[in-house]
Amino acid sequence: MDKELLERYWDLLNMSEDYLRCGSSGTHPSLAQAGFTGLKPGTASPESREERLAALGKIAAEVTGCTACRLCEGRNHAVPGEGVLDPVIMIIGEGPGAEEDKSGRPFVGPAGRYLDKWMQAIGLGRENDLFIGNVIKCRPPGNRDPLPDESAACRSYLDRQIDILKPRVILTVGRIAMQLLLETGDGIGKRHGRRSEYRGIPLLPTYHPSGVLRNPEYRAPVWEDLKALQRLIGEHH
Ligand code: URA
Repeated sequence: MDKELLERYWDLLNMSEDYLRCGSSGTHPSLAQAGFTGLKPGTASPESREERLAALGKIAAEVTGCTACRLCEGRNHAVPGEGVLDPVIMIIGEGPGAEEDKSGRPFVGPAGRYLDKWMQAIGLGRENDLFIGNVIKCRPPGNRDPLPDESAACRSYLDRQIDILKPRVILTVGRIAMQLLLETGDGIGKRHGRRSEYRGIPLLPTYHPSGVLRNPEYRAPVWEDLKALQRLIGEHH
């Protein structure tokens, strides 16, 4: 670990400690900056919550300083992902676009705003219910598909996040996230709305919001997927 990374990790540990001292309501500004926006009270024991926050902070710091593949060369910001511990849904997209690369935050462009509407439609929001991330943490040039070595280099970050966050369900959006997590060559048209599992967590794939913005004919199937998602959440308390 280089010095900058160590310092970042140390900052995140301090922020976590501050945050825990502030209590579990509201969002500590420094942690919010680092991507953690409000813990759900009473969902984990204080020690394990502290440990889990520290572990998430460590991953975020590693992602921020990662040089494991060529995508680090062109990035402005890596995008570790953000949200709550014990999310109802962990949403997993493909990788940061231009606005995410600029801000370091996931799904903040038009696709993200549309995704927020999908979640509102089923009564969920970023503040309390979601963790949003991507399989690839740095923007591929021109938003091209990630190359196999790039997704392989990034994969353990996502897997570690899933194991710590313990989402009730995973929603993948778009073909790439689904194909990578389910190790399939199937198209999204075939697999959307069909329940699978990843790392012991129920997973439902749907279309990518930017694809639906471009192709309104996918709206109806997405709505069916969101209803299936609600049922899946209901089955997994
Ligand atoms: N598209 C994605 O797949 N992820 C983002 O974070 C933004 C757009």
